[in-house]
Amino acid sequence: MVDLTNPIFTDADKAREHLEAQRWPEGPYCPHCGNIDQARIRSMKGKAHRPGLYNCRECRKQFSVTVGTVFERTKVPLNKWLMATYLLSASKKGMSAHQLHRTLGVTYKTAWFMFHRIREAMRVDTANAEPMGGKSKVVEADETYQGKTKSTRKISVDGRVKYQNKGRGPANKRPVIALVERGGKARSFHVPYATRPVVEKIVAENIAKESRLHTDESHLYSKSGVPGLVAKHETVRHSADEYVRGDVYSNSVEGYFSIFKRGMKGVYQHCSEKHLHRYLAEFDFRFSNRTALGVNDTDRANEALKGITGKRLTYRRTSEALL
Ligand SMILES: [Zn+2]
Repeated sequence: MVDLTNPIFTDADKAREHLEAQRWPEGPYCPHCGNIDQARIRSMKGKAHRPGLYNCRECRKQFSVTVGTVFERTKVPLNKWLMATYLLSASKKGMSAHQLHRTLGVTYKTAWFMFHRIREAMRVDTANAEPMGGKSKVVEADETYQGKTKSTRKISVDGRVKYQNKGRGPANKRPVIALVERGGKARSFHVPYATRPVVEKIVAENIAKESRLHTDESHLYSKSGVPGLVAKHETVRHSADEYVRGDVYSNSVEGYFSIFKRGMKGVYQHCSEKHLHRYLAEFDFRFSNRTALGVNDTDRANEALKGITGKRLTYRRTSEALL
């Protein structure tokens, strides 16, 4: 449980000190020039400046702990940011912007933008992250379809457009591909179409070649699996009531999808398609830092705080600085 009486949630200075401790365990560094020499960084404390301001003697610029983060240039006090981060990190199925608006006493619009920025902090930069799996490790992959798309194109499995229709079933739903390392982390992807080339690209870019890949007998994989991309691709035949064969199964990724679907149905019913990847980042984050892996609510929230750096440009592309 999150202890909401903790001063970091009620006092902006205490919140800033907590964020500094999370972001700068070795002491402050200059976000402008990268200077880490503590002798060349001066706190402006008690010099008639706002608290938390530092001066870099290398580049002569000033900075605070929020410069270059998703919390930058905001009128919302830092203690409310921390509370929002803790609440979203600890809530099993997510939390609506409406509930945050009531809890924090900020406008609904502000609450909505805050949660999207926090999701950005939770997002794993897959292009620069370690691949999933590894030697003798298992990665499970599966696909699901969520919500409705505006598009009604019917796509054949090799990626060619077959025909247009008004669409029922997967044809007008949003495809999501998820990878779960057994006993480890999750990564999920909202893709325009779930096709063989799309899935193979995701496997190639995210899973270490030495891994074993477990899936059900999806049409997204050829009979020979994904040869060359992983050490071994094994499938279970759900259609033949086969769910487990030895240590071959896809229960972990199905467990991930069941949490995701409960959240999307119970909390985020009106998620628009263009934001779906942000909600996936949120579910990935909580799953990858779940209690079963020994991560408690406090550790999980602090992990989210570590992700606030280097994400500012990405969220700016889609959300204006309205706060
Ligand atoms: Zn500097």
